[in-house]
Amino acid sequence: MTGGLMREVPVLVVGGALTGLSAAVFLGVHGVPSLVLERRDDILAHPRLRGLLPRAVEVYRQAGLERAILDRCPTATPRELVSVSARTLAEEHRPLSEVTAGEPTDARSPCAFAPIAQDELEHLLVDRARSLGARVLFGVELVALAQDADWVTARVRSRCGAEDTVRARYAIAADGASSGVRRALGIASRGPGTLFRMATMHVRADLSPALRGRRIGMAYLGEPAPGTTLGPLDDSGEHWFFGTARPDRCDADPAAWVRAATGLPDLDVELLEQVPGSGTKVFTFPIGARLARDYGRGRVFLAGDAAHLMPPTGGLGGLTAVEDAHNLAWKLALVLRGAAGPRLAATYEAERRPVAERATAQALARARVTWRLPDLDTEPAADIDSLVFGNRYTSTAVPGSTGSTPVPPFPAGTPGTRAPHVYVDSDDDTGLSTLDLYGTDPVLLVGSAGDRWATAVHRAAGLLDVAVEVYHLDPDVAEQHNLGPRGALLVRPDGYCAWYARDVDGDPDRVAEDVLRALLDRDPHGSPFPQRLHQQA
Ligand SMILES: Cc1cc2nc3c(=O)[nH]c(=O)nc-3n(C[C@H](O)[C@H](O)[C@H](O)COP(=O)(O)OP(=O)(O)OC[C@H]3O[C@@H](n4cnc5c(N)ncnc54)[C@H](O)[C@@H]3O)c2cc1C
Repeated sequence: MTGGLMREVPVLVVGGALTGLSAAVFLGVHGVPSLVLERRDDILAHPRLRGLLPRAVEVYRQAGLERAILDRCPTATPRELVSVSARTLAEEHRPLSEVTAGEPTDARSPCAFAPIAQDELEHLLVDRARSLGARVLFGVELVALAQDADWVTARVRSRCGAEDTVRARYAIAADGASSGVRRALGIASRGPGTLFRMATMHVRADLSPALRGRRIGMAYLGEPAPGTTLGPLDDSGEHWFFGTARPDRCDADPAAWVRAATGLPDLDVELLEQVPGSGTKVFTFPIGARLARDYGRGRVFLAGDAAHLMPPTGGLGGLTAVEDAHNLAWKLALVLRGAAGPRLAATYEAERRPVAERATAQALARARVTWRLPDLDTEPAADIDSLVFGNRYTSTAVPGSTGSTPVPPFPAGTPGTRAPHVYVDSDDDTGLSTLDLYGTDPVLLVGSAGDRWATAVHRAAGLLDVAVEVYHLDPDVAEQHNLGPRGALLVRPDGYCAWYARDVDGDPDRVAEDVLRALLDRDPHGSPFPQRLHQQA
């Protein structure tokens, strides 16, 4: 193992599944090499997450992965891949779906829901991460972690028992719901914990007699027990994901449970291995909700399920995990490059933890209905769009924050919210969105008469030795960002609005410099957050 192992890396990522691999990809986009350690010998060939909400597709689009993701999705239209509830698969289906049955998302996003399976996605992520300079090692686990003011030091062990030491400037713990790193850091979690355990299987069977031409994305079934789920794994009509909330009762004869769920008593059922070569056909995992009290310590950050566990209802767990990695990557990149101070990385927790708290509450609200858990005390389910597109960050990395005024589902330029999507040229068919402007450096959008802001931000960027791209918007595009002719909007590399000016007011050079210093934690005197920034918003 030691022969090929880097001993010193900018970022060490513990866990090579959805979150860890996404982090390696996003760090790679920013030119930061990482080392990913994955305990398993390979990607888990197990049907887990079954689709990406549009915002997750947007961030993978920034990393050049959207086309590859769409190529690996079933060919059915989103409308055909509707989630339904029914007593058995053969009986009447009642539509349940929010996103998958929705109208095309064109107006709000260039991306739609992508029904890709997690193992397919992880294969793409490994390839992309490696092509961007990451080292992804399977069969290697973290056994101990320590840190001082400058370094994280990790003891790692390969499958053959060989041990080695790796030093990194930062570490991302993407080691899943039972995160050993979280426990080693002494970080407690709160929440209801495990609600029940779910058993899942990969089934090969011809379900066409039950479907009779109907297509589904996922079916939530009442038989043989509430909490039964069934959905297609590919386009063939032969491969199915089967899940049950009663592993204790299903264990004795899993095939009989599949027959009862489909309503086809004579069905031929074959259970396939979930980890090739392992003989494992039934996997169980916890359905529950838990949120880490802190998102890390010092140079170590928790991300994905290591930080937050939530029921899969609504697909919010995957989105939250992917956006965690996306939020952290650009911040670490700027800090490692010396372009930003360390407090920029610390804004990760201030921004992402409230999002996970909200997503967890909403996943629970959906779990209550989907799995008929009346005793679960939840808030009412909110509109899914507000969860996908309507988050608002409040931190020092949002210098123009205007506090906690309500956020509309599709905020247009409000500091702390995702910058809106507008097709750049509605007459051509390039499909270029304003979202395609974001990804690496901060971007300043200005109105048609916004030269003064452009000059001021160029000057400030030069002073701080950072790159900021400037774009002048056509009036109709500017309008959809709530931007007047003399206005300006600063957008961060993750596509979230940092600061907004309605007009040219006061001393733009001074304001632009203050804004960049605050965003990048580059205030030379360590003085409190500059109050005058608010006057511009
Ligand atoms: C069996 C199962 C079924 C699921 N089904 C669904 C579903 O139907 N729908 C849904 O939305 N979500 C589902 N989920 C949840 C979804 O898969 C997770 O939200 C998502 O995988 C989170 O990704 P993650 O990378 O944060 O954590 P994980 O996927 O848990 O990955 C953590 C990785 O870290 C590795 N690791 C742990 N410790 C170490 C160490 N010390 N050294 C090296 N590597 C380490 C693990 O081997 C693992 O690969 C399921 C999860 C599981 C486990």
